Amino acid sequence: MSTSVPIDDPLSKAPGEWQQWMTDRGYPAFRGRQLFEWLWRHHIRHYDDITVWPKDLRRTMATAMPLNRLELVKAEAAEDGTTKLLLELADRQRVETVILPHDYGHSLCISSQVGCAMGCHFCASGLKGRIRQLSAGEMLDQVAYANRWLKPQGAQVTRIDIMGIGEPLDNYPNVIRFLHLVHDPLAMGLGYRHITVSTSGVVPKIYQLADEGLPVTLAVSLHAPTDALRSQLMPVNRAYPIRKLMDACRYYVERTGRRITFEYLLLRGINDHDELAVKLAELVRGFPSHVNLIPWNPVDEHPFLPSPSAQVRRFQHIVQDAGISCTIRRELGQEIDAACGQLRLREEEPVSP
Ligand code: SF4
Repeated sequence: MSTSVPIDDPLSKAPGEWQQWMTDRGYPAFRGRQLFEWLWRHHIRHYDDITVWPKDLRRTMATAMPLNRLELVKAEAAEDGTTKLLLELADRQRVETVILPHDYGHSLCISSQVGCAMGCHFCASGLKGRIRQLSAGEMLDQVAYANRWLKPQGAQVTRIDIMGIGEPLDNYPNVIRFLHLVHDPLAMGLGYRHITVSTSGVVPKIYQLADEGLPVTLAVSLHAPTDALRSQLMPVNRAYPIRKLMDACRYYVERTGRRITFEYLLLRGINDHDELAVKLAELVRGFPSHVNLIPWNPVDEHPFLPSPSAQVRRFQHIVQDAGISCTIRRELGQEIDAACGQLRLREEEPVSP
């Protein structure tokens, strides 16, 4: 696994790296695999919890590789079972992760950065800019925490969307490392096809992801079918306009065989006109794709209003009548501020440990 992740982050290490770490220090290699398994299968919080280990190894690890797992600050559950967890990192920064119940199991929407640099005008997460990248281990620990949360129900995370706070492709090496780790059978063993990587449209990284040989689903936040409108809503469009974005999407489909999901947030009177539905269908025609319409969740900090539900359905029918697969995202967890970044903004002040 080749990424630029610092080697001293214990939650970000792969089993092979742990084996090497152990042998370099005179311990048997199998201790490395054992440690990885105890971290992600047994979710230990201290090395002393590894009961099969000799005391001296537990002490060595505690000094050489201090373990800082995510701490729960707050959990909010909606009636439909959607649960938003606000988790604190070692430096007291906070991220959100959201568990969503479905017929097929539970999906988890994880964050990839603290804050976000992309500045989409409708988004709570970008209001204060990007504070820092999350390590692969900090992303993986969100999954581990969600699994721990679901365990009493006899459930676990079966799908992952890297769609929470942050632009995943702006944290590329850590996200790639995370994908390898979460796929590892000694961790969660999750199939790549059960993982969606979302992007606001960082074109060069879409090409790079296409060449990684990882058949993850790519979700592109489109939100407007014309450059003029998209540039108003999403500054990234000025650097990578729609034509370049569509070329990159086509390349992704060719290389991976996976269809692209286009996310489209419907904002009343802004991007929900009938003619924009026609334009949207024209834009995504010609390669395997799916359009996911997202009813807007109002955010205090932004002036947008949700499209009336009749217009949401009308928009969907226009796209579908043009032969494009198009669904409306279920409105999950409305009463718990389900738009990304809202809980974190509301809970700005750190709590005492
Ligand atoms: S919508 Fe996504 S990419 Fe845009 S600012 Fe929010 S978190 Fe960042």
